Amino acid sequence: MAEYIKHEHDVLVIGAGGAGLRAAVEASAAGVKVAVITKSLLGKAHTVMAEGGIAAALANVDDRDSWRVHFADTMRGGQYLNNWRMAELHAKEAPECVRELEAWGALFDRTPDGRILQRNFGGHRYPRLAHVGDRTGLEMIRTLQDHGIHLGLDVFMEYTVVTLLKDGDRVVGAFGYDRERGRFHLFQAKAVVLATGGIGRAYKITSNSWEYTGDGLALAYEAGAGLQDMEFVQFHPTGMIWPPSVCGLLVTEGVRGDGGVLRNKEGRRFMFDSIPPLYASQTADNEEEGWRYTQGDKNARRPPELLTRDHVARCIRTEVREGRGSPHGGVFLDIAWIKDRIPNSAEHIKKKLPSMYHQFKQLAGIDITKEPMEVGPTTHYMMGGVRVDAESQMSDVPGLFAAGECAAGLHGANRLGGNSLSDLLVFGKRAGDYAARFAKDHLQGKVNPDELVEAERRALKPFENEGPAPYVIQYALQETMQDLVGIVRQEDEMLQALNTIQEYKKQAENAEVPGHREYNSGWHTALDLQNLIVVSEMITRAALERKESRGAQFRDDYPTKIDAYSGFNIVLSKGPSGDVQLRREPIPPMPDELKQIIQEMK
Ligand SMILES: Cc1cc2nc3c(=O)[nH]c(=O)nc-3n(C[C@H](O)[C@H](O)[C@H](O)COP(=O)(O)OP(=O)(O)OC[C@H]3O[C@@H](n4cnc5c(N)ncnc54)[C@H](O)[C@@H]3O)c2cc1C
Repeated sequence: MAEYIKHEHDVLVIGAGGAGLRAAVEASAAGVKVAVITKSLLGKAHTVMAEGGIAAALANVDDRDSWRVHFADTMRGGQYLNNWRMAELHAKEAPECVRELEAWGALFDRTPDGRILQRNFGGHRYPRLAHVGDRTGLEMIRTLQDHGIHLGLDVFMEYTVVTLLKDGDRVVGAFGYDRERGRFHLFQAKAVVLATGGIGRAYKITSNSWEYTGDGLALAYEAGAGLQDMEFVQFHPTGMIWPPSVCGLLVTEGVRGDGGVLRNKEGRRFMFDSIPPLYASQTADNEEEGWRYTQGDKNARRPPELLTRDHVARCIRTEVREGRGSPHGGVFLDIAWIKDRIPNSAEHIKKKLPSMYHQFKQLAGIDITKEPMEVGPTTHYMMGGVRVDAESQMSDVPGLFAAGECAAGLHGANRLGGNSLSDLLVFGKRAGDYAARFAKDHLQGKVNPDELVEAERRALKPFENEGPAPYVIQYALQETMQDLVGIVRQEDEMLQALNTIQEYKKQAENAEVPGHREYNSGWHTALDLQNLIVVSEMITRAALERKESRGAQFRDDYPTKIDAYSGFNIVLSKGPSGDVQLRREPIPPMPDELKQIIQEMK
């Protein structure tokens, strides 16, 4: 018999980032007993790192904004592969979710007349991001955490879930361990919400923290849920590239929103050289117009530095490959130049971008008020994830919900900056609401003791193994994904990656871990590695299947968008014999009123 400590709740939320906390708050307010589990400490989830802001059509800075424009921007950004119902709900509900956060105590930056200030961001037609300097995620987490604690959530910090448990088709709980002692825990629950964030640690260069190992996606896949849009991994154009110890660390798009420009080693603003037809009518013709846009001129169009992330990242890559890059293999991002336009520009930059100022000063010895930064693309965000129902966020598996970065649908082929934090609020709230309803309609399910024995055996296997260290396999996997399934892809390289991943899978089965169960990071890595391998395989399979370039997926061998690929999402699930099943899921027809919005906004 397995040895474990048992906990019982109505709703179990796995993940304490923005999505998890928002779900937990909603479920708790509905009167059910809620537990939240987090791999790290409360307040340290990845959401805390979010910088630029929350996208919501509050129309405080530009009264032409509305949910309709936000909807059209999100769909265009996602190259129309988005779940249009999610995009509609998101655009309509985000403003109320931001006001709710404010009512719970979030202190946003203000307009001169005291309303929530909004800033420009890539792909958004009007200034739309509610923000707190460049520390918006911190304020969001602080507010949700304070609010949630008052509602009486049970919080399990430094716990990791390794398996979901099922009773027939339905999910009835989860099994995991605590990091401190390595003891096992059974969390029985009537409904489970996955809010485990992204997958960035599958790549070598990433803005993501150690927690982002795709656990929720792998847990859902193993439990029988579909994973959708896995080919769409977002490479943010501006990560730090020097010194090597901080390579990948994010440089917020807010720098470009506030007037920062990209230049190559010749000092040329290369982004003006390549403007995609889909965005031509909305993009500035010249530097002067671009500058006026960043300063709030309603008659100006956005500078090309604020085109979507996929496009900007590829333009940077081209500059570097063609020999016009910066000394350490990136390009220059310059906000210091605004001294020619703004008196007291150094103070202005420090006030608008305090974290960026300190990040470069302390980590790279660069004063961004005086010198340009060196930047390059970094793996940032996963558009793909657990396939969910738009209204309820329930997956294909009854009782299993997903929200936030680990869920798919809202962003389609490419996410707009700022649309993640609003996603967490809108769909975290919905997931919590519907999970609570599900819990009220169902009794606790039965947990199969054999499943627990098997989960315990698998979790302890690395201590019995004789094989490579998990770090070695993880590092090799990250190199493979970076080199062969990265920003630019092609068939032969991805087939090579797929073969290599199968090798890593075998090696990971035998990964050996010395020592005992207390705070053993080697053991934790061995278990996380299994998830990274599942996720890497799914990304590669989906990317091979989509023989075109669209949004975040760019294929050298199919460099254009192909109409035949515009009508479906790729969904992967586990077949009855453990094989990977791939299907092309048709996108349902969009209602006429939404089609009309898109037409009007073209
Ligand atoms: C540097 C940076 C800046 C960003 N800036 C912005 C921005 O300005 N605007 C914007 O919209 N988006 C931004 N993003 C993206 C956005 O921050 C994330 O997409 C979002 O915070 C994800 O939130 P989440 O709640 O889904 O997951 P997270 O906040 O990552 O939370 C995941 C939680 O799940 C837990 N967890 C994971 N696996 C397990 C497991 N097996 N068992 C138990 N717990 C587990 C983790 O410990 C954590 O608590 C930024 C991202 C980065 C990296």
